[in-house]
Amino acid sequence: MFLDYKINTNPLRMNIDDIKKQIEKYKAEGKKMFTTSSFQSHSIVLLHILSKIDNSIPVYFINTGYHFPETVAFKDLLAKEYGLNIKEAKPFVPKEMQKDSQGRLLFTSDPDYCCFLNKVQPLEPILAENDIWINGVRADQSAVRKTFKLEEKAPHGVIRFHPMLDWTNKMIHLYMKEHNLPRHPLEEKGYLSIGCEPCTRKFDLEWNEREGRWFGLKKTECGLNTDLVQK
Ligand code: SF4
Repeated sequence: MFLDYKINTNPLRMNIDDIKKQIEKYKAEGKKMFTTSSFQSHSIVLLHILSKIDNSIPVYFINTGYHFPETVAFKDLLAKEYGLNIKEAKPFVPKEMQKDSQGRLLFTSDPDYCCFLNKVQPLEPILAENDIWINGVRADQSAVRKTFKLEEKAPHGVIRFHPMLDWTNKMIHLYMKEHNLPRHPLEEKGYLSIGCEPCTRKFDLEWNEREGRWFGLKKTECGLNTDLVQK
């Protein structure tokens, strides 16, 4: 079968060989690399590709403490299946100090600050000790991501490398099908975009992929793709 993800009709789109060449180029330049993953079904394609290129590249799971237990179990399954070098980034501020003036946890009243403490801040020391952040964002996921280029600057002189940027949802599903990749266990229960439990809703057929996140708010990004991009 001639699959869409193997046809490079878009000159900006990276195929698997292009990704491999770019990673090897960074390596030859002595660059220190890492990737991050939210361990959703669509994240697995990049992890699978990287595992074939070099499975020693650290894969950081930003463990906010609010993930579904199914996500944590899925991460462990993938680590074992593909020999991934998983590492964890954890928040520095304990949850009892993450409350507003009413005593409520911050995701209820200030999700931007909650995301900062639990996602953005934990990544800072990892950025400081690396050169390249391999980041699996896709342009078709949000208006913010649509503005990204293949490489963008991040804090601490790091380059964000976006190998999946011009892959489409269809290409992701074709790749998963061809390689028989597993799916996040909550998908069959109606969740499509899966992040922290308090900020994730079941998917409605009329929504696009990420609308199950921060339901009812204008918020569409957690800060990793806004605070940690230097345009
Ligand atoms: S997604 Fe929700 S719970 Fe997770 S860090 Fe952001 S605001 Fe907090």
